[in-house]
Amino acid sequence: MKLEGSMYPNKTIYPGFLGQTVLPEGADQISSDIRKSTNGNVQVYVNPLIDQEQQVSTFSHEAYGHALLFLRKEDPSHRDTPGRTGTDKSNDPLEKQIKAREKEGKRNYRKHERLKK
Ligand SMILES: [Zn+2]
Repeated sequence: MKLEGSMYPNKTIYPGFLGQTVLPEGADQISSDIRKSTNGNVQVYVNPLIDQEQQVSTFSHEAYGHALLFLRKEDPSHRDTPGRTGTDKSNDPLEKQIKAREKEGKRNYRKHERLKK
């Protein structure tokens, strides 16, 4: 389901969140900005209501950004990314990783879509 936003006539507005990664106990020792898993596993959720390309991008963000950095024992949280809270304590390694993986995911999705035709 997509909603066309009247405030943003040229953009598609998605209802709810795009995705979420939840991490096992102990992840909160790396960063306090972590949502905990209830079963001890790393879990990645992707909103099924968004279009497939956005699902791929969101999965790339969550799995190859947040989850991967957690498995590498690096800080997997956005912390106080500028623009989110107005402070300047961004997690640059995460933001760089996420930006690259989202772009890669979208590129691969489009390539795959072209091959189906
Ligand atoms: Zn994120």
